[in-house]
This record gives sequence, C-alpha cells and structure tokens, in this order.
Amino acid sequence: PGADRQLGVALVGLGGYSAGQLAPALQQTKRCRLAGIVTGTPAKAAQWKQQYNIPDQNIYDYKTFDRIIDNPAIDIVYVVLPNALHAEYVVRAAQAGKHVICEKPLATSAADARRMIAACQKAGKQFSVGYRLHFEPHNLEMMRLGQREVFGPVRHLLADNGFRLSTPSWRVNRALSGGGPLMDMGIYCVQGCLYTKGQVPVSVTAKFIPNPDPQLFKNVEAGIDWQFQFADGATADCRTRYTENMTALLRAESPKGWAELAPAFGYGGLRGRTSQGPMNLPNLNQQATQLDDFADCILRNRPTRVPGEMGLRDVQLLEAIYRAAETGQKVST
Ligand code: NDP
Repeated sequence: PGADRQLGVALVGLGGYSAGQLAPALQQTKRCRLAGIVTGTPAKAAQWKQQYNIPDQNIYDYKTFDRIIDNPAIDIVYVVLPNALHAEYVVRAAQAGKHVICEKPLATSAADARRMIAACQKAGKQFSVGYRLHFEPHNLEMMRLGQREVFGPVRHLLADNGFRLSTPSWRVNRALSGGGPLMDMGIYCVQGCLYTKGQVPVSVTAKFIPNPDPQLFKNVEAGIDWQFQFADGATADCRTRYTENMTALLRAESPKGWAELAPAFGYGGLRGRTSQGPMNLPNLNQQATQLDDFADCILRNRPTRVPGEMGLRDVQLLEAIYRAAETGQKVST
C-alpha cells in the first residue's frame, strides 16, 4: 500500500462519543476515513450505513466482529465502548491483525492494560490511547511552558474536571466503568498535571467527597480530591466530580509566572492565559488531528506520542489514587 493511501477506520460502539465526535471528525480527516462499524444495535447499523455510506460487508456486531480479520478495507479498529469492555475488544482487534486505538481510560485495571499492550505487540500492530488533547494547541502550549520551564520549574498545579451526572448509565455501574468520575473525568487532571510538569509523581494522597445520592452512586464514588507529590517537591491538587458542572481547569504556577487553561479539556472553546497575557491560540478539530496523526504513524512506521503504555501508566496512577482514598494513607506511585 502506498504511503498516500487513506486508511480505513472501524468504530466499535456507536454511542455518544462515536456519533457526536468521531464520525464527524472522520469526515474531515485526510489520512484515514470511516470505513466500518461494529454495533450491537441493528437500528444504528441501518442509520449509519445510510448516513455514512458504509457497505454491508464492513458492518459487524459483537459476535461477527472477529471476521474483520478477512476485511482488507479496515486498517484501524477504534474501541469506543464502556471502559470495562475495552480490554476484550482491543485484544480481539489485535488478534484480527488490526492497528488499534482505544478510548480512555485504557482499561479498568493495570492487568488488563498490560494484556492489551501484549496482544498488540504480539500482532505487530500499533496501539494508541484516545488522548485527543496531545493534538490540541492550548494543551500543547501548557506542555511547552511547563516542560521547558519557561517561567521556571512548575511548583504547583491545579486541575479540576467534572460534570453533574443525573441519570443512571454504565458510568455509575462499576462493573462497566471501573469507577466513578475519577475514571471518566479525573483522568484528564492526571494527564494535564503529568504533561505540564513533564514528570510522573512519586506519591499521592486522596479523599472521597461525601456521597450525596447513594441511590445513584451505589458502587462508584461521587467525587474525589487528590494531591500528587513530585520528586522535586512540586505538588498538584486535583478534583473530580459527578455532582457539579465544573469549569475544566489546568493551572501551573512557577516562580516567575503562571499559565492557565479554563476551560481546559473540552472539544472546543478552550481558552488560555499566562501571567503575561492571553494565549490567542486556535481551536482545531482535536479528533481529526488525533486520527490523522495515528494514520500517519502507521503509514510512516513511526511511534505515536500517545501509546498504550501511556494509558497503562495512567491506569496505574488511577489505582494509586483509589488506594490512597480507601486507606487514608500516602501511596507511592
Ligand atoms: P455511550 O454510553 O454513549 O456509548 C457506549 C456504546 O457502547 C453504546 O452506545 C453501545 O453502542 C456500546 N455498548 C456495548 N455494550 C454496552 C453495554 N453493556 N452498555 C452500554 N453500552 C454498550 O458512551 P460514550 O460514547 O460516552 O463513551 C464510550 C467510551 O468513550 C468510554 O470509554 C468513554 O470514557 C470514552 N469517551 C471519551 C471521550 C473523549 O473525549 N476522549 C468523550 C466521551 C467518551 P452500540 O449500540 O453501537 O452497541
């Protein structure tokens, strides 16, 4: 295949994120396109087939999925299922000889994340986690300012992310989600602090917020506050909630200045400023940029900047945050 060919992407799980963001983004991509779908809902199959002109032979359900091995029109499988189902479908996609992107959080346990990485390695296929903000100008600017110590070393970080969840879904069913807002929204705070500081923390302390609705939050936390400690003494204070629509925040304070994104983590409308003034950066289609970059990695045989290993690292940190909240102890990461 030529390096100028468009790769075919199959989305697995046609929920809110696939329908609202990924399918539209795949109409804008240059290096890849929406070629197939995997869905358990026949009505969605019919609707997507028509809307996106998807041929019958590229439409699968969860039982027929493994036959994708025989379909040369599909190069990349993008797993967009509830968190606890990521592992099974990433492994099956790799076994079918496809490159794989998996949504965040990569898995609901580090053990699963390791299995997924091993399966892709064994198949000789590229594996990426859906961290769209590594392709977003404001967040890239935070990485530059923090990692290059433009205002001196980052001493303190603040990160918030959360929304008010009021109707039951897989997000509050631990068997499918692996946990509450930490898994879903707090992971952006973890990511933001690590890519701004450019280091992995050495320890964490954490505390669950009181549960205001034990009916809704039966087996996941309603919210959690945590602090990361870094080797150089820097700290990061983070908060995530399913009880409150928070302004997504990422702020870094250094001896000679500060930088802040608010809102920091959405699909668009991001705004940034520093102690020297506004950032004035564009908002791009993050998912289209992310997808084209992954296709380019495959076509040019170069590594992705958001590999499965980064997803594993973050799942390990999520596990450490939960352990710290459950024990009330400082946990080494
Ligand atoms: P939705 O609930 O909207 O969709 C999930 C889809 O998965 C369903 O529509 C269904 O699709 C399929 N599915 C298969 N089995 C089940 C099951 N047992 N219960 C529920 N759904 C099932 O979720 P989202 O699209 O919001 O999230 C999907 C993944 O994407 C999650 O991992 C989430 O963390 C991630 N995400 C990432 C975002 C980002 O910005 N990177 C933003 C939003 C979500 P079908 O009917 O086709 O079978």
